[in-house]
Formats: sequence, C-alpha cells, structure tokens
Amino acid sequence: MQFNAPRGTNDILPPASLKWQYIEKITRELFADYNYEEIRTPIFEYTELFQRGIGEVTDIVEKEMYTFEDKGGRSITLRPEGTASVIRSFLENKIYGQAQPTKYYYIGPMFRYERPQSGRFRQFHQLGVEAVGSNDPALDAEIISLGMRFLLKFGLEDLSLHLNSVGCKSCRPKYVDVLKDYLIKNRDLLCDDCKSRIERNPLRVLDCKNERCHSVINDAPKIVDHLCGECDEHFSSVQEYLDILKIDYNINPKLVRGLDYYTNTAFEIKDSSLGAQNTVFGGGRYNGLAEEVGGKDIPGIGFALGIERLLLSIEAQNIELPVEKGIDLYITVIGENAKKEAFRLNDLLRNTGFKTDIDYLNRSVRSQMKSADRMNADYTIILGEDELKNDSATIRNMKTGDEKSIKLSSLIEEMKQLVYGEEKQDE
Ligand SMILES: [Zn+2]
Ligand SMILES: [Zn+2]
Repeated sequence: MQFNAPRGTNDILPPASLKWQYIEKITRELFADYNYEEIRTPIFEYTELFQRGIGEVTDIVEKEMYTFEDKGGRSITLRPEGTASVIRSFLENKIYGQAQPTKYYYIGPMFRYERPQSGRFRQFHQLGVEAVGSNDPALDAEIISLGMRFLLKFGLEDLSLHLNSVGCKSCRPKYVDVLKDYLIKNRDLLCDDCKSRIERNPLRVLDCKNERCHSVINDAPKIVDHLCGECDEHFSSVQEYLDILKIDYNINPKLVRGLDYYTNTAFEIKDSSLGAQNTVFGGGRYNGLAEEVGGKDIPGIGFALGIERLLLSIEAQNIELPVEKGIDLYITVIGENAKKEAFRLNDLLRNTGFKTDIDYLNRSVRSQMKSADRMNADYTIILGEDELKNDSATIRNMKTGDEKSIKLSSLIEEMKQLVYGEEKQDE
C-alpha cells in the first residue's frame, strides 16, 4: 500500500523550499523594518469564531471550512484565514490595554475545502499583517505601501493598486439599499448567482466574474458617492498619504471585498501578467470585526497574501529568486582510516560555520565526486591513507578547476581564506 498526500495538499521539496525560505526571510526582514512583530496563533479555533468573524453568508463559511467535532464534542475548524484569530488573540490577551496601535504579522498554513485548481490548494499558505487599535488613515497608507514594497522586493513589475472605501456601519447600509433597488430593477440582466445575491449579499454582485453581469455592474451606483462625512474624509486622507509616498492608485468602485467585517479602506494589488485571475493580494480596514467577535469596538486594518499565488506571479514574470543550493566543501574519502579523519574534520568545519558534507554509502571516488557536483560544492578535497600520512591534500575549486596543495592540519585556515577571502584572514 502506498500513500499519497491528500487532494489539494502539496509537499514543498527542495530546491523549491529554498524559494519559500527566501520569501519568508524577505517577509521577516521587511515587516520588521515597519515595526511589525510576529504573532503565532493556533492552526485551529472554535468554529464559531470564523462564523462570526468571517460572516455566515460567505463562500468560506458556507462551503469551504474544514470543520470537525473533537473528542470533547466541540466544533473545531482549521483556520481558513488569519485575521479572525489575530483579533481573537488581541482581545483574549487584553493587548488593547497596551499602547496602540499593535502591529503584527503572521506566516503559516490556512485550510479551505476548495476544488483544487491552478494556484488554489486546500492547504495553502498566507502571510499577512494586522495593525490593530488605530483608525488613522496614515496607517492605511503604511499598510498599503508595505504591501507594495513587499512585492517590489522580488522584482515584480506591472503592478497596479486598486483602492476603494466600503464605508461604515452607518453609511454602508444606506448604500446597500440604493444598490439593491438598482439591482432589482436590472434583475433580468444578471446571472443566476447574482439574482440570489440581491437579497443575501448584494455587495457581492459587484465582484461577480460572470461576463453577463458586467454592464449592470459598470453602471451601478458607486459606494464612494454615498459615504458619510467621516468616511469620505477618511478616504480622502488615505489618498493624501499615498500621494505623499508617491504611490499611484486607481479608484475601483467594484472593489468591495467578500467579507462582512470590512469597513472604509479596501485595496487590491493586481499583476497584469497573470491574466484574468490577476489579484496578487488584497486587504483593508475591518473596524467592525472586534465587535463581532468580542464585543469591543476596536479598529483594525491588514492584508493577507497567498504564498502560492505570489510564486505564480514570480514565475509568470520569469523572475529567478536569488536562491542557490550549495555547500562549501565536500570531503571525498578513500578507506576506513581516512573516513574517521574526514568525519572528524567534517564536524570541525561545520562547527566553524562551513557548509560541508561527506559520503555515507562507502562509494567509489568517482561516485563521491558526482555527489559533490550534485550538491553544488564549491570545493572538494580527497582524503586517503597517503594524505593522512603526509599531512597534505589537494583542494579543488569545482567552478574553475584550480587545484592547490595544502596541509591537512591547516584545512580550517585554508577554507577561511578560500571562502571568505583575504579580508577575514586575520580574524
Ligand atoms: Zn460612513
Ligand atoms: Zn453575476
């Protein structure tokens, strides 16, 4: 019997995992520059958190959650996204009692029961930021600029920022009524999904991908024309701060986000090289979320980005990430005595900070050299009885073919010079 990974999941093997490590490294470095700190929440939560925090009338909650009963009879769900957990933790740990805003980031797996297709998996990976405890529009601009800069770090081009405001709990319902009236009038022109959305969640009609609905959507009343004074001012201010950072944006009235707790700023970054499914990631304000899951009125804004989706963009734009598999030295061994000495030297080199390896299958010199090649070793050295006896061996530069005779007893010093060059020799 042979097992396969469950449908919609992936093993991330080397060398691909090097790309993942690189992305994670950039994430941690850049997010730290913006003073965001890492939060690690559980992979599973009580189901109700997501029902309340994401909204009952969403595809995620209705169809896509991995929900099960544990042995204690509690309903548990594998997290389908990160924000609800972060807010739950913020409230549970009374972080609101500290100086605000609180700026967190996370990286990790998420779970949705979706039909597997290009770029979509049942276990997928997201990284995201959440800035909680401030409604300052400058913070919205900071989050957006962080998202933009993150993508630029990988050399991505053809990016465009789409921006909208989805109002607040006082102005949005009025807009939704206006929209609903308009959609009812144009009901016959809409697709079947949208017909049922009119009553359940009319905002979602605006991001319908069905061609049939496009003309109705294009002529629909725009939410930015129905914002209350406060929301209107907030939105103008976000744009002002983006202007200060010289970040271009398009106001996109169709950008309403699928989730109920979003308020004010909504944004998406699109990559035109990706075709129709061209949103790399999005985010926005969710001032209504904390109240939804904890009873406290605490503003927040964030974004989340799928790492698989990011890799698709990187691939579509033919970007080679600067990751290189390789070791500094491979020690080729002839004979049992030499193996013991090689084993000792290998350990010593590693303890000094070199990446090294030796053979563990007692293979021929030729096979060992092949391994050195496969491991992309910068240098190799052959160790046999003669080398041990004479305290002398030949070290070979695998890139240039240059060879050099050295004393075995000064291998560490030789390696320091070869790998780090002259400047570190005195250390
Ligand atoms: Zn408002
Ligand atoms: Zn539709």
